Amino acid sequence: MSPLILDTHVDIRWPEPPDWRGETAQCVDAPKMRAGGVSATVFIAYVPQGPRDHAGHNAAAARAEAMLRHISARAEREQARFCATPDALEAAHGARLLGVLSAVENGYAMGRDLGRIAHWRELGAIYLTLTHDGHNDLADSARPKPKLGDGAEEHGGLSPLGRAALAEMNRVGLMADLSHVSKKGMLEAVQRSRVPVAVTHTACAALCQHPRNLDDEQLDALRAHGGIAQITAVPSFLHAAPPNGAAQADVARLVDHVEHAVRRIGLDHVGISSDFDGGGGVHGWSDAGQTDNVTAELQRRGYGEREIALLWSGNFLRVWRQVLRGAG
Ligand SMILES: [Zn+2]
Repeated sequence: MSPLILDTHVDIRWPEPPDWRGETAQCVDAPKMRAGGVSATVFIAYVPQGPRDHAGHNAAAARAEAMLRHISARAEREQARFCATPDALEAAHGARLLGVLSAVENGYAMGRDLGRIAHWRELGAIYLTLTHDGHNDLADSARPKPKLGDGAEEHGGLSPLGRAALAEMNRVGLMADLSHVSKKGMLEAVQRSRVPVAVTHTACAALCQHPRNLDDEQLDALRAHGGIAQITAVPSFLHAAPPNGAAQADVARLVDHVEHAVRRIGLDHVGISSDFDGGGGVHGWSDAGQTDNVTAELQRRGYGEREIALLWSGNFLRVWRQVLRGAG
């Protein structure tokens, strides 16, 4: 059996998502997953940051729910299965079915209603990214949005509501994703969470200074609390942009970041994601059909079958199981 290759962060087009069962203009669809040997994808119900009032929160919640329902329906009438647990994902892989998973990006979609967390989990979501770009009612963002009136900091980490949301996520078994969260908020959430946390799409600040990246202190905190950093294929996180140019990166550079994290906190705390259709894509891994190139680069650098399986899904599944076991 080939290893379970899980991509933990992929956006979808919204509204009007194309039929993923056939070839699309997206980086990820069912034919590309098969071509690249991708076993499963976490598709994201992404909600852009908007006005933090009743109408804004209601619209955001409605969008998140519609996207989650669309994602789970992707597994119908296709050689695919919607997976809301690690066991279901492993069974789908064993049966050679594509795994379809879902998550919510931006706690803004919760508004101030903690009940939405259990509801999303009931709909099958596996994680919630606490913020996106711009502070929300739960936490400060690593990238404030001055256009929305953001200063550098609003809560100094998590807000009281953010702390309550984290406790509720722990209770219902919804993994906390700390991508996009400010350094203070991320470190606070790592400490407070009763179970390990994930950072599903990030890279290493030691190799590329970027507000979305984790510095070594943050990586160390993840290791100390059993969490995981999923290194992602966003060029500007991997390589500083040249003056007057766009950042460029290739698979080797992505794996440089993987190796930095592995050296710093150990192989058990590192994974890989693409952020395809949300800004991800590097030379050699520009869509799901080229995923074999990442595995080949890991092999070239001496990673064995066991290590590669851990990086592609084993570590993430371990964290996910700890989150589910800790629930209740
Ligand atoms: Zn994101």
